[in-house]
Amino acid sequence: MNDHDKETNGASTRARMLELVHAAPTVQAIHVAARLGIADRLAGGPKHAEELAREVGAHGPSLRRLLRFLTDMDIFEEDASGRFALTPLADTLRSGPGSARGVALHVGEPWTWRKWGELHHTVMTGEPAFEKAHGMRFFDYLATNPAARATFDELMTELSVTQIPAILRAYDFSPFRRIVDVGGGRGGLLAAILAQNPSASGVVYDAPEVEKTAAAGGVGGRLEAASGDFFASVPPGADAYLLKWILHDWRDEDALRILANCRRAIGEAGTLLVVEMVVPEHGRHDSKAEDVFVMATLPGRERTEAEFRSLFRAAGFRLTRLVPTESPLTILEGEPER
Ligand code: SAH
Repeated sequence: MNDHDKETNGASTRARMLELVHAAPTVQAIHVAARLGIADRLAGGPKHAEELAREVGAHGPSLRRLLRFLTDMDIFEEDASGRFALTPLADTLRSGPGSARGVALHVGEPWTWRKWGELHHTVMTGEPAFEKAHGMRFFDYLATNPAARATFDELMTELSVTQIPAILRAYDFSPFRRIVDVGGGRGGLLAAILAQNPSASGVVYDAPEVEKTAAAGGVGGRLEAASGDFFASVPPGADAYLLKWILHDWRDEDALRILANCRRAIGEAGTLLVVEMVVPEHGRHDSKAEDVFVMATLPGRERTEAEFRSLFRAAGFRLTRLVPTESPLTILEGEPER
């Protein structure tokens, strides 16, 4: 490599770094566009920023500058007359099934955004940045802020849109008569499982403040909602206990308390189904970004296969199978150790 090449590479590496460093305006600009529902407002055709600003009560010149910045990333495009239009990326911010709007809303909201300013605290102490920023634990915050609770549940529901079909394709739920989804949120995953398995019934179990909306839909009356604290108990009498994205929220001793309650409920037979990202020993994987997100928010972490295996064993389960899905999630199947 000659000196010139070195310099060019050095400059482009630095430019790449500056791009990474400047992520904040990008995330917040997408968030604001999502919050103002700009993509929905352009569904009928292009509009000037002034017109959009009038519709949403924004400051016209500033909205124009925001949208102009987003066109640089191919989110919206601007024609010669200064009208903004949808692009394929902008289209994902339209509301409705399969949308990315809920994720953009959640990630940039001031109350979730604030934790990132405290990431240094997490790295120095091991404590969640969220708790430093808000003076309370994440799920306590959600319990006392219904609007925050709603965007979080919406986020989980939206993220599930691609995960649910991947889980259903990867795993055969037909042997089960009754399934409890522990920390099942609004209940979308269990509703989808029951829809595919007409002889099964189930219970979506989560904190009282969670609206288990999928249960209201019924799945022919086979999906019930139950509220409670999984550290106290989980509903008894099922032959499968499903925990998706639960254990990664908690440190080992708390994860063990949840699993111990499942172990008591399962009795001598039954199946434990833990759905999580499994951190590979080497190589790139989505679990590593998810892990930093979790670390900033909650006392938990993403785990390796070996870590799951010892967690299962400590709770009285044997890890029988790891079933990969087309999504970054893996289904970890366990049975009671006899
Ligand atoms: N399984 C869902 C939601 C995962 S988020 C999905 O994958 O989309 C974690 C869930 O655990 C939240 O819905 C939260 O309300 C629930 N949760 C947290 N603490 C809980 C507790 N002590 N008892 C019951 N549910 C709890």
